[in-house]
Amino acid sequence: MTAEHADLWCETCDQVTEHELHYAGRLLESVRCQRCGHHVEMSARALIPAYAMDLEHRVVSKPRRLWLRASRDWRGFLKGLPRATARQPLKFAREFRELFRR
Ligand SMILES: [Zn+2]
Repeated sequence: MTAEHADLWCETCDQVTEHELHYAGRLLESVRCQRCGHHVEMSARALIPAYAMDLEHRVVSKPRRLWLRASRDWRGFLKGLPRATARQPLKFAREFRELFRR
């Protein structure tokens, strides 16, 4: 899971506050107001099908993305490939854990 920060309107605080946005893969999973703690979470019912569709798109587009990355800097691409490949199972395990822990 990755987290980003953004200034958004909080209905509880009735003002713009800093929020922490949590993502499962590329999908927004939840948002938390950093001032009052108000937490909004996507339901698993909505998130899991959306994640499956996004995962399918990621898999289909992977060869093209790898090709583009390699064509920009093939030495850096080859140098980082073993490490990037080794990280994938852990990355997906984290995403699945976040999705199914609800
Ligand atoms: Zn708030």
